[in-house]
Amino acid sequence: MQNPISKLVVASHNEGKVREIRDLLAPFGVETISASELNLPEPEETGLTFAENAELKARAAANASGLPALADDSGLSVDALGGKPGIYSARWGELPEGGRDFNFAMARVYEEMKKQGGADTAKFICALSLAFPNADVHTYEGKVEGQIVWPPRGNKGFGYDPIFRANGDRDTFAEIDPQEKHAKSHRADAFTKFIKVWFPT
Ligand code: IMP
Repeated sequence: MQNPISKLVVASHNEGKVREIRDLLAPFGVETISASELNLPEPEETGLTFAENAELKARAAANASGLPALADDSGLSVDALGGKPGIYSARWGELPEGGRDFNFAMARVYEEMKKQGGADTAKFICALSLAFPNADVHTYEGKVEGQIVWPPRGNKGFGYDPIFRANGDRDTFAEIDPQEKHAKSHRADAFTKFIKVWFPT
């Protein structure tokens, strides 16, 4: 059977994410175009789970473009905080005066976790959704488990990377090389599941 995906919209307006998704798809000969290149509107993320938000972003891009679309939604889930900041991970970095600062978000995670006095375990979660125009949606979830460390360490990553250390590692996600992170991250885990189904070797 011919693969139904020869051209794909990467349903994100975040350049970093688009680049990462393009790199991951490069070996499979898929032509990609981003949601911003197509001037697609950004839907409001009204879902209550990572999967719901990934699905609504993929569906909106697929329906508006007439092409299959791939979207991801991700974040940090801290066990002592009942899974927070979760789908609000980006929002926890928003400053009252505007703009984002993840030093502020990381300190908030640490302070709230300390108040709970319990475990320091946490995970990064990623939901990746593939939607076909006005048709079905397929969602794959990936995760990486680890601990919250304090103070933040390293400057290689983004977001909450400086306070997250994967199980079995000594260094945080912001201290290890990007290739090493990409081999074990929540996004890589979700992508592996997606590739297995749609681009089997
Ligand atoms: P999204 O763009 O709505 O999926 O927001 C994801 C947010 O979760 C980002 O802004 C980061 O704060 C956080 N996040 C997701 N993945 C990672 C990661 O790999 N490292 C650090 N932070 C991440």
